[in-house]
Amino acid sequence: MATEPQEQTVCAKGWVRTKRGNKNVTFVALNDGSCIGNLQVVADPGTIDGEVLRKITTGASLSVVGKLIASQGGKQAVELQAEVIEVLGEADPEEYPLQPKKHSLEFLRDIAHLRPRTNTFSAIMRVRHAMIFAVHKFFNEKGFVNVHTPIITHSDAEGAGETFRVTTIDPENAPKTEDGKVDYTQDFFGKETNLTVSGQLEGELAAMAMGEIYTFGPTFRAENSNTTRHLAEFWMIEPEMAFYDLVDTMDLAEEFLKYLIQYALENCMEDLQFLDKRFADENKGKPANERSDMGLIEKLNFVLENDFERLTYTEAIDILLKSKPNKKKKFKYLIEEWGADLQSEHERYLVEKHFKKPVILTDYPKEIKAFYMRHNEDGKTVAAMDILFPGIGEIVGGSQREERLENLVTLMNQIGIPQEDLDWYLDTRRFGSAQHSGFGLGFERLMLFVTGMGNIRDVIPFPRTPKNCEF
Ligand code: ATP
Ligand code: MN
Repeated sequence: MATEPQEQTVCAKGWVRTKRGNKNVTFVALNDGSCIGNLQVVADPGTIDGEVLRKITTGASLSVVGKLIASQGGKQAVELQAEVIEVLGEADPEEYPLQPKKHSLEFLRDIAHLRPRTNTFSAIMRVRHAMIFAVHKFFNEKGFVNVHTPIITHSDAEGAGETFRVTTIDPENAPKTEDGKVDYTQDFFGKETNLTVSGQLEGELAAMAMGEIYTFGPTFRAENSNTTRHLAEFWMIEPEMAFYDLVDTMDLAEEFLKYLIQYALENCMEDLQFLDKRFADENKGKPANERSDMGLIEKLNFVLENDFERLTYTEAIDILLKSKPNKKKKFKYLIEEWGADLQSEHERYLVEKHFKKPVILTDYPKEIKAFYMRHNEDGKTVAAMDILFPGIGEIVGGSQREERLENLVTLMNQIGIPQEDLDWYLDTRRFGSAQHSGFGLGFERLMLFVTGMGNIRDVIPFPRTPKNCEF
């Protein structure tokens, strides 16, 4: 890539993207997945056997030894003048499913093992890697400690009940209790267990000892929401900080998102330029009201350069009540009064139409938020904050946690969470309790924003969604 062509002998291995040429010369575009650009291999039939040339087809893997020279053609800086080509693995052109034409994203999802061989997915996966690295870099630079919270748990953090059960009990032959229910005391862990929906509660334990921590792990939600923003298995980053209030937390989250975007712009420009073109093409085909008025890279820079708009839920409801789509009954869910849960159409109206930039909404009604959020003095709202992004809606959800034991116990009783289940959690409030806060960033939602892709299934290598668990 950055190598100066000085006729040095090199060996390149990769997969054939395209082959073209005539009886005097063959050009092979070889790609090894390290970057978007291909290496042009020039094969002269005087040097390379005709039988070998015949086996070079789209998708085949090659090892090419030759001299790296300045390219004769205008499109690339260097090319590889082949001396020896070994076809490592042939790809029967009759059967190879990827052709050098544009495939639909849906088609590619069905051949997930070949997806990374396309420009689009290899670019996305490289950006994904850069973002994973940048997440750890950001927190490491700030002195946060990375904590692995459990994947199998007994707790359902949100109390929403949308969990995947983990059991070794044979459903056909389950041990029963006297009253005919499944006897989970005979299960592997001796009780009911599930895959985690969030590492927050365990993260809080670590924060209340180490100050500033973060988790970055897989998260599982059995919610039957077949949207372009929900996966059944996704990755979440959850920082949790002792002694932070809600404003400290918003500041951290905004700095974090900007850091990640900046990192992408500084380290993934080639891939972003490719994705930017793709985004522009997709955008052209969209109806006028869904079209983005900025390009991808322009959008990323815009977010970097502007402060996020901060307002309370109450202020947002006022704006929505007075908004055109609400008055003209264009929203699917009309906002009628304070207390309404905001749907993604409302979030997107605020971000895309009203403020035209990322928005942080705070102080939601307690009824629509989780039990662990800190009650505000007004008795009606909690110290929650959601960050809403253009084209996506909620990207971050966070709060100051309720650190007062009595309040927490009262709330748990009200919504029916048995105290014995969360005694280990309540202990942080019994001994040395302190103000603390945290948030969750859905990693694939961030990826949607950074890559400009429209469907969350296309920013994770192996998407899991309702009725879909291939590979
Ligand atoms: P939403 O209302 O969009 O379903 P949520 O309120 O359920 O989100 P939280 O429980 O606050 O989300 O989770 C924290 C973050 O995790 C969200 O801000 C979002 O970025 C991400 N997230 C939540 N659910 C999913 C999902 N099913 N797939 C991918 N990311 C998700
Ligand atoms: Mn949800």
